[in-house]
Amino acid sequence: MITIMADATDRYKLLCDFGELSWIFSHSQDIESFLNEIVLLVSKHMGAEACSIFLWETESEELVMRATIGLKPESVGRVRLKAGEGLTGLALKESRPISVREALKHPQFKFFPGTNEENYDAFLAVPILRGIEKIGVLTVRRSRKKPFKKDNVQALRVIATQLANIIENARLLMQLGSEARKKPQEKALTLEGPKLFRGTSASGGFAVGEVLILARERSITRMSEAGLDSKHTLADFRNALEETADQLEELQGRVEEKLDDAASLIFTAHLLLLKDQELIKEVVQLIEEGQTPARALIQVAKKYMEIFSQSDNHYVRDKGNDLEDLTLRVLGNLDSSSREHISVKDKIVIARSLFPSDVLKLSVEEAAGVILVSGGATSHTSILCRSLKLPLVIIDEPVLLNLSEETRILIDADRGVVCVNPKPEEITECERRFEDLRTKGVAAPVSGRAVFTLDGVRIRLLANINLVSDLAPALAANVDGIGLYRTEYPFLIRSDFPSEEEQYILYQRVIDKVGDREITIRTLDVGGDKVLSYYQNYQESNPFLGLRSIRFALKNEEVFREQVRAILRTCTSKKVRIMFPMISSLDEFRHAKEIVLQCWNELRKEGKKIEFPQVGMMVELPSVLDIMDGLARETDFFSIGTNDLIQYLLGVDRANEKMAEFYLPHHPAVLRALERVVSSARRNHKEVSVCGDMAHQTRYIPFLLGIGMRDLSMDVSYLPAVRHFISQISMAEVEELARSLLAKDSISEIDAILEPV
Ligand code: PEP
Ligand code: MG
Repeated sequence: MITIMADATDRYKLLCDFGELSWIFSHSQDIESFLNEIVLLVSKHMGAEACSIFLWETESEELVMRATIGLKPESVGRVRLKAGEGLTGLALKESRPISVREALKHPQFKFFPGTNEENYDAFLAVPILRGIEKIGVLTVRRSRKKPFKKDNVQALRVIATQLANIIENARLLMQLGSEARKKPQEKALTLEGPKLFRGTSASGGFAVGEVLILARERSITRMSEAGLDSKHTLADFRNALEETADQLEELQGRVEEKLDDAASLIFTAHLLLLKDQELIKEVVQLIEEGQTPARALIQVAKKYMEIFSQSDNHYVRDKGNDLEDLTLRVLGNLDSSSREHISVKDKIVIARSLFPSDVLKLSVEEAAGVILVSGGATSHTSILCRSLKLPLVIIDEPVLLNLSEETRILIDADRGVVCVNPKPEEITECERRFEDLRTKGVAAPVSGRAVFTLDGVRIRLLANINLVSDLAPALAANVDGIGLYRTEYPFLIRSDFPSEEEQYILYQRVIDKVGDREITIRTLDVGGDKVLSYYQNYQESNPFLGLRSIRFALKNEEVFREQVRAILRTCTSKKVRIMFPMISSLDEFRHAKEIVLQCWNELRKEGKKIEFPQVGMMVELPSVLDIMDGLARETDFFSIGTNDLIQYLLGVDRANEKMAEFYLPHHPAVLRALERVVSSARRNHKEVSVCGDMAHQTRYIPFLLGIGMRDLSMDVSYLPAVRHFISQISMAEVEELARSLLAKDSISEIDAILEPV
């Protein structure tokens, strides 16, 4: 038993008999009753008439009452507070005890009717913390005007510290358990009336539709109970399997039509699982023993998902997601009411994170738009959404994951705005604005390739392309060339490494399409947030600092050589250039270039009539800033990848929206780094461009031109606006602007000079 010397003034001790405590644990039927035992004990020893435990729920970012004595039992699970909300939320937010003599009169007190709170005046809350991790809050209350004294505060603090570890475990188990048990209607959040959320635009466009939450862990439990018990037969199950196979093949066909470079079978795993006789046999057997098909399928799927999830191999673990997705599809075909529930067509999909293959699936299944509650605008999921013209807004509001699925949402992804329950006039207004934009685009075809500033300086506008489908709009925008071809996208979407021949065919098609324009092909840039599901030799705790980009290529030389050979085979003219990503030293550049030379010699010996291409590198790491002149003597050109350069210069994860306030392109260190790179390139008569997102941001373009940048490479959708913007710029003005920005040491001074965001 726990004995608390709550009133001792000299020292405060929690005589916690862990034997007793673990007895309570093993004796409690479940975690809820364990927490109930704890509130009982704490209230007794603190002389409090009421005691409650609130646990921090990471998904909703709320404190939730999980156990109470003295307040109405119905309050459990219902009383929810944000950090900082009410006295309880305040204790957590400020990580300190809050002791109030007359809580009901306190301006910060948040009253929950129907809980019985009105019976208590004296209130004491202490946060339960483990290091900096928030676990919850322990509160005690008394009815008479018997305030908690200093020693009570100290005693409750000690209790909270001693129980933190065990409560943390209980919290995690409860989170896991509740995810599996909860039905959506218990969790779903219904927002009354319109509500606006502001996030970051990651892929422009406009969409309106009903919500579909993609939270993998609860998808299977989303199926209605009614559907599970319906009177389907074995024959219905077999029909549902066939129907699912047909739908998957049809979808696969659509992927191939839409994105032929990603034509790998992204539904392969699904189709194979459908054909897995062992798995099907188990389901059939259960049905023959009297289970309904839906229950039998879920039982077997869960068993395999459990097995997959325990694998050391990421690839196998991923298969769990495929199996779950497949199960939902088959269930949807068994029961048409649930099919409606899982179809993404015309829906606004809300997810925590998405793999490139998920994005592709959403695109071919015609989702209207996507909201991600984590990720960053320069992350590769965002880049892929732009290629697929799938509107995407990133908002750090996990509460959106709890929206009920019939909620209507409007996303104005150009402005990064999400409106829940939009008014009809808001939808009409948005529709009109986008229609205007569209018709303007059509009405003003791009005339001529060349873009000049007001005072006649020629600026080359280049396109970043990720998939072959980006090419047509790039050429329609009359670009000067392709400044960055991110070749990794086909690698990412596929389920295995494409062979030299497959790559050659793909690159040749791209090159044929660009006509006489120059094209810079970047070699494989995987790692970081670009994970190859089929390459999981080891896991990294810091993937952005790990085996990324050129490091991956040089460690997997065979893969690199196949790609280099495929590119070189297309070098029948001078228009193709090769570029290495994330070069960190001259040695690394030489190593990669040596491989290009060896492959070129091999191909020549094989009789290929090819030119030796220009070989350049990306400037993305601070380590190259001091050796620019040395690199410039050996490289043919530079392209500045500001997305990564900012990340590595400022130590800010580019794919973490929560860190967006620290991800500052206008930090003086970034501006000066850019200036150094451009000066060195010019001094050494080497071409230099920018191909990160700064190249399309009108806030920074004047600075870039002012330091001498003449080539800007950007995602296709930004080209028309940038073309117009540049034609309004005066070189004399932007040179002056650049000089004044470079003279400033602080972010705020620079911010004040630049156009507002
Ligand atoms: C960059 O880092 O700025 C860049 C263009 O490369 P990616 O966004 O593909 O990492
Ligand atoms: Mg990069």
